[in-house]
Amino acid sequence: MTKVAFIGLGRMGRGMAGRYLESGFTVAVWNRSKAKAEDLIARGARWAVSPADAAEDADAIVTMVADDEASRAVWLGKDGAATAAKAGTLAIECSTVSYKHALELARELRGRGLIYIDSPVTGLPDAAASGKLTLLVGAEAADLERARPFLAPLSTTIRHFGAVGTGTVYKLINNLMGAIQIAGIAEGLAIAEQAGLDMKLVLEAIETGVAASPQVIRHSKRMVARNFSGATFTAALRHKDAAYAVALAESLLAEPPLVGRAAVHAYEKAKAYAPDDDEGKMIEIVSQAKAGNAE
Ligand code: NAP
Repeated sequence: MTKVAFIGLGRMGRGMAGRYLESGFTVAVWNRSKAKAEDLIARGARWAVSPADAAEDADAIVTMVADDEASRAVWLGKDGAATAAKAGTLAIECSTVSYKHALELARELRGRGLIYIDSPVTGLPDAAASGKLTLLVGAEAADLERARPFLAPLSTTIRHFGAVGTGTVYKLINNLMGAIQIAGIAEGLAIAEQAGLDMKLVLEAIETGVAASPQVIRHSKRMVARNFSGATFTAALRHKDAAYAVALAESLLAEPPLVGRAAVHAYEKAKAYAPDDDEGKMIEIVSQAKAGNAE
């Protein structure tokens, strides 16, 4: 049977690893904290004692961890996956990492004989668990063809942007645009609330107007209701993505990315306020009344 090592079992990774089990792969899993692996072990996954242990006999290694630091640790750290993987193994990085890290990791893993696929994703944890993610791939065409059987359980939509790193470029602009929109809708709703508008009517107008994206519509409902249950994406993760995107913008553009920097600043505050809660909670900060204006 085809063997997959799956590393990183957070909100997204647990569902993705489950898809490999459902699709008949032999799966070894590792996560920094073992508790998150229990349901997968009960469903037939092998618990690996380290990323290296998971990678040892794998045909493909798939990682879904928080950020550059976590990615470096699970691939290249002591007992990292790259220390044990055999030459020719597919190395599929699905985490959202910085562009610089994606290129450095690709260079390092290729140097060790692995085939690197840059494959960050869009879609929420429910899409991860049902195999409906969109994969944003940067890879040589031949490498992508080799990887397809290992990508199929995760997704029905693969967007191939070009060489390694291009998937990450798209993912970062996608999430920077999202950060800008969400920070923008928080401010817009806060103004409407403080000005005393009927928020039911405001939501209806947003939903049927031209200023909203699906993302804005989803967040505006949760923000107005102050309902942040079932957090899918946290302030800390969005801040990380926006900061990586702004660093990329600063390396490419003559003009400073002022709007992006403002979004990073808004998310810095949201992260300081509630790092692991739903990112929409930022409305609680921005909606506070100006001193003297509170009734
Ligand atoms: P999450 O629930 O916070 O999980 C983060 C994972 O990273 C956990 O497995 C965590 O291990 C691991 N981790 C963090 N620091 C580590 C370190 N230093 N060494 C080893 N492992 C470490 O995050 P998530 O929502 O699943 O997101 C995972 C990735 O997908 C992120 O890059 C995120 O930006 C991206 N993403 C998320 C969504 C979404 O809707 N949530 C959508 C698209 C893409 P522990 O369990 O031990 O903490």
